[in-house]
Amino acid sequence: MKKTGDQQLIKKMNKTIVLDTIRQRQPLSRADISAAIGLNKATVSSLVSELIESRLVTEIGPGASSGGRKPTLLLFERSAGYAVGIDIRVNDLLAVLVDLEGNVLKEKTTKLSDFSPDTVLNHIRQSIHQLSKSLPESPYGIVGIGIGVPGLVDEKSQVISAPNLGWNQIDLLGALAPEFGANIHIDNEANAGAIGEKLYGAGREAQNLIYLSIGIGIGSGIIVDGALYRGTSNFSGEVGHMTVAENGPLCRCGNRGCWETLASEKAMLDRAAKLWSDLVPGLEDIIAFARKGDAEAIRLMNDTGNQLGVGLANLVNILNPELIVIGNRLSLAGELLQDEMLRTIENRSLSYHRKKTTVAFATLGTSSTALGAASMPITMFLSDPDVLPASKVNS
Ligand SMILES: [Zn+2]
Repeated sequence: MKKTGDQQLIKKMNKTIVLDTIRQRQPLSRADISAAIGLNKATVSSLVSELIESRLVTEIGPGASSGGRKPTLLLFERSAGYAVGIDIRVNDLLAVLVDLEGNVLKEKTTKLSDFSPDTVLNHIRQSIHQLSKSLPESPYGIVGIGIGVPGLVDEKSQVISAPNLGWNQIDLLGALAPEFGANIHIDNEANAGAIGEKLYGAGREAQNLIYLSIGIGIGSGIIVDGALYRGTSNFSGEVGHMTVAENGPLCRCGNRGCWETLASEKAMLDRAAKLWSDLVPGLEDIIAFARKGDAEAIRLMNDTGNQLGVGLANLVNILNPELIVIGNRLSLAGELLQDEMLRTIENRSLSYHRKKTTVAFATLGTSSTALGAASMPITMFLSDPDVLPASKVNS
């Protein structure tokens, strides 16, 4: 009997739900799945058989019996395929090879000094080929690639503008797709970082969270009810350009007193260059000075913590988040910034709004974006396991 389109669609949806249930609750039996999602056991069994055939699910030894025959338990086969996640940063390019659960198999960092799109694209290609040399034998190989870019990326994956790279209207997707297939996702680095922390890091339990990427600038990814809030044009989250001081320092956007002119890594480095004019201190140096008890360095940390708190108090009042995760470079100074930052949030935000808000530093360190980027092609692959062909990358 020929199935109608609707029946096929429903079957596909059910299969995705069964796969998601196995991924989230493994190990579990066919009966457990049936009870969890309310599909009858025969349908669940048939969908599970297909998932086993496509090697996304495996059976393991019997679980505890509730009286009768011990049930066979099912596991998601996280090594059925792999993905590459890339974070294009201002100093370097981080590339990670992960399995379908986001576990890192291998990573590669490449120093960047020339940001021309062709050079960066070459580094991306080399990184993918290099990482794919470590690829274990698997049924699907590399299922896709995700890339986080420090700039505006529209809903068609086009890089509209990345000021720190000097990029305007760059089509990374078009440049990479002929070689690496269509499952390539380009997104703003803070959006990718937010997804990374939500799936694998500090935000796993949170439904409403703001991830702040604080490096040279300040960007954010906002997760509302478990999903990324993208805005009308995919440009949401530019919190670094919220005005916090009407006549403050000039920002690269042309405005004055943007939050990132006062609370970013760059703001800190600019001040440090004046304090220690005989050397050019980097963030790691200032952290080391502060840990050794240098009064100037401690004051710089406290001032930056305070400026961070000013902007965070605004975000707490507007979005009433459950969790704020501070990531990227400034998370390295977490313990030195946090007292002053928390004090300012306490002093400046509305008490009912901050009551249930926790502020944390990224548990994935400076890998949040690369891991979140890698998760995007994985999510796409797993949402339709029948359709996507294996796209093996030859090293
Ligand atoms: Zn600005």
